[in-house]
Amino acid sequence: MNEYIPPVPGMRGFARRPDEDELRRQMVRYGRLQYERGLVVAAEGNMSARIDDRLLLVTPTSICKGEMSAEDMVVVDVSGRHVSGRRTATSEIQVHLAIYEERPDVEAVIHAHPPTATAFTVAGVSLAQCVMPEVIVSLGQIITVPYALPTTAEAARAIRPHAREHDAMLMEMHGSVTVGRSLEDAWFKLERLEWAAQVTLMARQLGGVKPLPRERVEELVAFRRKMGASNVPVSACNLCGSCCG
Ligand SMILES: [Zn+2]
Repeated sequence: MNEYIPPVPGMRGFARRPDEDELRRQMVRYGRLQYERGLVVAAEGNMSARIDDRLLLVTPTSICKGEMSAEDMVVVDVSGRHVSGRRTATSEIQVHLAIYEERPDVEAVIHAHPPTATAFTVAGVSLAQCVMPEVIVSLGQIITVPYALPTTAEAARAIRPHAREHDAMLMEMHGSVTVGRSLEDAWFKLERLEWAAQVTLMARQLGGVKPLPRERVEELVAFRRKMGASNVPVSACNLCGSCCG
């Protein structure tokens, strides 16, 4: 089913929802990109996208995301029941379902294990900082979701309240979840998330992170609002403490 949707969550503008065949090809492509860039290793990570209001296309469990073919993908309904496909859906399906339930504006979800961003959660260092303009405008705040056992209902419960307001989330000791108006949008957010983590790490090695002045952050947050973002960050960052209110 094709229908017109905005290209970016909450943003103005329209794009056509890809048909199922196109979604399958996109999953193959973004799976390969994630694997080649080291954002997932072995058979880790998973993706999903809305086919229509009732069905989701998801990656199967136990498969290297760099070696998937279009036929490997699995169709489930919005309650997670298997509809078609010879493989079993990702074991993280509950996290995906919780996000779609909370965010009718979200068309695609990518869970990956970006090493630098994940290392920040292992070290207990937050990435919720107003430092780089691209991050503030396109990702909003990178929130860290408290640890929960992966693949369980606990993991879905942990992410649910944060998914309402955030497009880029880190699951403590585990990995990332990015959401978007398309698989491409969710993939771009994953790339930006890891880039932000790498730059932040290098800045810390060079002597520390120098946050943007509050008024420059407010300017960027206003720009994000002007673009129509539905999920403007509402909580304060860990540097300036009051930027995103
Ligand atoms: Zn994972």
